[in-house]
Amino acid sequence: MDSQQFREFGKAAIDLMADYYDTIRTRDVLPSVEPGYLLKLLPENAPEEPESWKDVLNDFSQSIMPGMSSPACTELEVVTMNWLGKLLGLPEEFLNCSDGPGGGVIQGSASEATLVGLLVAKNKTVHRLMRNDPTLNEGELNAKLVAYTSDQCNSSVEKSGLLGSMKMRLLKSDPEGRLRGETLKNAFEEDRAKGLIPCYVIANLGTTGTCAFDPLYELGPVCNESDVWLHVDAAYAGAAFICPEFRGLMKGVEYADSFDFNPHKWMLVNFDCSAMWSALALICNS
Ligand SMILES: *Cc1c(COP(=O)(O)O)cnc(C)c1O
Repeated sequence: MDSQQFREFGKAAIDLMADYYDTIRTRDVLPSVEPGYLLKLLPENAPEEPESWKDVLNDFSQSIMPGMSSPACTELEVVTMNWLGKLLGLPEEFLNCSDGPGGGVIQGSASEATLVGLLVAKNKTVHRLMRNDPTLNEGELNAKLVAYTSDQCNSSVEKSGLLGSMKMRLLKSDPEGRLRGETLKNAFEEDRAKGLIPCYVIANLGTTGTCAFDPLYELGPVCNESDVWLHVDAAYAGAAFICPEFRGLMKGVEYADSFDFNPHKWMLVNFDCSAMWSALALICNS
């Protein structure tokens, strides 16, 4: 889009909004669409070629506006999170279009995604243990939960432990800045011997300091064996997986329970847009 087209597009967008206010009294209060209506109107994959802004505004008027105020925005989020997940080559179970409970949601930041993962992991762990032994006390269990990440993690990861009241261990990374499976396994064993309960692991794909990639194919089996939630923080480097030649760096991603990256970094999307997928439902008490 050149500057002239940008001017025209900007003015047309303002006109659309002003027209909306001018005609608001003649519009329906409730949308007249059925849930799932937008999925049928939009393509299953992101378009490979850009479209003219006129077509985009037209699509907006014809497809999105009839579904205002809801469910249009949520459905657009579902469709575009499928597009984005497919672009990265994420496993099918992370997508809303798979048969399972998984799917993608937009969070405000990678910091929030790490905290959301922590809270879900905490809740699922405590409820699983209490289902197995109803005499257990929820408060006592909560106090024993432990989260793990590497000493290369982003400062927001430590903060999620503080906010979510879970002890967060920063394990020593190898000389390449990666958290190894053996280190994680030993930490789980040490903590279990103290009566603590491993609950949540945050793996880094692209550490902030040196862009190190933790081997998910090592960490994943250790977590799965112990029923520990594995969250992947790929905040800035995750966008690189759009290029198939970099996907080897996320080998083992199928072991992860949740995955997050920031389109508001390398994809040049305005803050705040952090894309989080989970292979399981992000709801508590289940
Ligand atoms: C930038 C970054 C974050 C924090 O991202 P926000 O969206 O600002 O919360 C977390 N982890 C890594 C690895 C980062 O590079």
